Amino acid sequence: MRTELVSEPGDVQRPNEDFASVALPASGQGGVLVALDGVTPPTGPTGCLHSVPWFTARLGGALTELAVSLMDVPPAEVLAMAIARTAKTHGEGCDLSHPRTPQATVVMARWSPERVEYLVLSDSALLVEASDGTVSAVLDDRLARLPRASLATDALIDSRLRNKEGGFFTAAADPSVAGRAVTGVLPRSSVRGLLALTDGASRWVEKFHEGDWPDCLSFVRKNGAQSLVNRVRELERADAEPRTHLGRSKLHDDATVVYAEL
Ligand SMILES: [Zn+2]
Repeated sequence: MRTELVSEPGDVQRPNEDFASVALPASGQGGVLVALDGVTPPTGPTGCLHSVPWFTARLGGALTELAVSLMDVPPAEVLAMAIARTAKTHGEGCDLSHPRTPQATVVMARWSPERVEYLVLSDSALLVEASDGTVSAVLDDRLARLPRASLATDALIDSRLRNKEGGFFTAAADPSVAGRAVTGVLPRSSVRGLLALTDGASRWVEKFHEGDWPDCLSFVRKNGAQSLVNRVRELERADAEPRTHLGRSKLHDDATVVYAEL
């Protein structure tokens, strides 16, 4: 088995708001990978004394620890427990009902000798390579499916669509959101590889169309996770003048790639 993890900030002047981990429990018979993408709030109050990196470190740390120590608890329940634990670490000065309270997208995959379980919430991606080489993308595409007119401004997204029925969901302070995640279980023998990508890295497919999801997994296996991030940065720089692909989104975004060859 081989694992590889790369996480780079979009801007060296700002902290990386992604979180990534790979944990291999002492039994040596399984493991877990986690990738979170902290949601950068629009400027203005968040109701919270804490930063997005503070939040992603705590949620990602709790999720990793609970996933490997409670191998029999399904991923959605583990996520709910991790959200609840993280919510408790905020102080009394934090209003956790605020729509801009720190929050993150979540990808988690866990494997044992018998099975592979996965969970995806919001717009990070998990690619699953089957033993016959076919690659499936596990995506929570609620955000992509919202009508374009709804996406006019970040403020509108925050007030009307974030963590609201009919909108899209991220891991914030409410454990019940875990029930909204895309989840699944596969026989371990049917899975050869796993690749988690935050949207700063999945741009390789989704914005720059360098290839499809299977091409992306092949690229990482052959060239390494760092090469994928490097290629995205090249494409972003080349696109900086005309801004044809990126539209109003950030020139560079935090980019995380976690690869596991089982
Ligand atoms: Zn707080």
